[in-house]
Amino acid sequence: MAITFQQKCMRCKKNYVTVSRRQNYAICYDCQKGELSGKISDPNMKKMFDIPEECYKKNSFLRDIKLKYLRQGELTDKQIEVFKKVADELQADDKK
Ligand SMILES: [Zn+2]
Repeated sequence: MAITFQQKCMRCKKNYVTVSRRQNYAICYDCQKGELSGKISDPNMKKMFDIPEECYKKNSFLRDIKLKYLRQGELTDKQIEVFKKVADELQADDKK
């Protein structure tokens, strides 16, 4: 697993968010919840983002990718690949 650390949410300055070293900002699930519920019309993307809500709560990277897609309407192949990998890992962890 990547190295992660706790950082205070930049928006509410109340909740802590787990971020990886590559992320230079942190916003908690509560603050992003509204934006994350945006509509996705592409069936493939819809399927990819259809993971347990818990995963989005736990992982700010997954939220970040979903928000990017909702804002820009597209993702790079690399972003899609990493999203799937992280989502799989999280769900595998839960089954342990
Ligand atoms: Zn917050």
